[in-house]
Amino acid sequence: MIILKTPEEIAQMRVAGQAVAEILGLIRTAISPGISTIALNNIAEEECKKRRAIPVFKNYPHPRRKKPFPAAICASINEEVVHGIPGERLLQEGDIISIDFGLILNGYVGDAAITVPVGEVSKEAQKLIKHTEKALFKGIHEARTGNRLGQVSHAIQKHAEEHGFSVVREFVGHGIGRKMHEDPPVPNYGGINQGPELKEGMTIAIEPMLNIGRRNVFTKDDNWTVVTRDGSLSAHFEHSIAITNRGPEILTLR
Ligand code: MG
Repeated sequence: MIILKTPEEIAQMRVAGQAVAEILGLIRTAISPGISTIALNNIAEEECKKRRAIPVFKNYPHPRRKKPFPAAICASINEEVVHGIPGERLLQEGDIISIDFGLILNGYVGDAAITVPVGEVSKEAQKLIKHTEKALFKGIHEARTGNRLGQVSHAIQKHAEEHGFSVVREFVGHGIGRKMHEDPPVPNYGGINQGPELKEGMTIAIEPMLNIGRRNVFTKDDNWTVVTRDGSLSAHFEHSIAITNRGPEILTLR
């Protein structure tokens, strides 16, 4: 069931979304060769405390196993697509890192992701990052009342494939509100006639994951970290948005 939000609820979600954007900005600034992913996680945890916000990924239940996610951010390096667990691994010049982060503030969730180059990265990696973010914005542009959700999905897939990248299918965006995952699922692929009609008050998280190689992925033995099957680089961008009569509003834009 899709839960429509009132303008007052969207105002609360904007507050949560702004906190996510600010904290991701601080993490982005800290990303450099030699920093560990757990140090990046600690920034998120401390900033949540300052704001009396709850990091929503921490202890998030695994869909099939008794092994909740152990950290506040997902930190996914290079061929890792999503759900990488922060640890002692140090970032190296030339890596790319995706940071996914969400929190609850005043009862509402904000959720966003960025992919950041570590120092100088290859031309190919730069192009992947650029077009993953562009694909997200192409999708957001279609998130307007009267459109079908499939128009969002299709715009993302079209942009990705036109630039030679593949789209991960196993993980998709989602409705967002008092809970991190609400209806509807928001695929990053598909036809324009699919999915529900978009209505004022819908709030969704759009989050394309693009690979340089093939689209196939698998989950590693830690039960969380998703990697590309062919080992190719993957990037991930996400914004939480509200659909209004004035067009899409990005709640997690700084
Ligand atoms: Mg999300």
